[in-house]
Amino acid sequence: MRYAILSDIHSNLVALRAVLQHMESAGPIDEVWCLGDTVGYGPAPNECTDLMRSYEHVGIAGNHDWAATGRLDTSEFNPDASDAALWTSRVLSDENRSYLETLPLTTVRGHFTMAHGSPRNPIWEYLLSERVAAASFEHFETTFCLVGHSHIPLLFHEDVQGNISFQRLPLDQAFRPGRGRWILNPGSVGQPRDGDPRASYVMYDASSGEFHQYRVSYDIEATQAEMLRLRLPQSLSERLSHGW
Ligand code: ZN
Repeated sequence: MRYAILSDIHSNLVALRAVLQHMESAGPIDEVWCLGDTVGYGPAPNECTDLMRSYEHVGIAGNHDWAATGRLDTSEFNPDASDAALWTSRVLSDENRSYLETLPLTTVRGHFTMAHGSPRNPIWEYLLSERVAAASFEHFETTFCLVGHSHIPLLFHEDVQGNISFQRLPLDQAFRPGRGRWILNPGSVGQPRDGDPRASYVMYDASSGEFHQYRVSYDIEATQAEMLRLRLPQSLSERLSHGW
């Protein structure tokens, strides 16, 4: 069984299509696991949600999904993110709004717990330090926890003695986790923030037990042109070129 682990698509249809094409070129996908923030920031919230819903998938809610459906007050966002969230909420179809509203905050699939920010605070917490990772390991029972939200691919390990360490996810090579428990962030499809503007995702092959992180080039200018046409905030468009 092959599982695609995606997060933070952020209404970037060109990036999402490039990622789906890349993963399917290596063989069929059994299920897509989407770690939240399918919408927000970008120009194609309905198209991205429709495309995600057309796949066999497991989804959870992110803060931008909640903002788009009115469950979260956008005053908590910076002004550009708030403008984009209000625009998203205006254009979202009733069907996609209902779909996003039904997404749970966390879910468990076999050995995997999924939460957008962290298992302790799925909507808001950024899981970027060993200190937050240590607290997070106390909030899930499975071997793995998959998170998004920071848009940065990373890996935390808790060894059998309970020591926590940070690791970078290896790129373009298989990663086979050893003993202990793991927190993994696949990075962001639609708005990477680690200095590499290419779309990021992770494949998990259940038969070999291996994870594989990929970066996929996409037509960034096509997404930017669409954002310009829709008058979405310029800073949100520019950041795509830089990957932050
Ligand atoms: Zn996000």
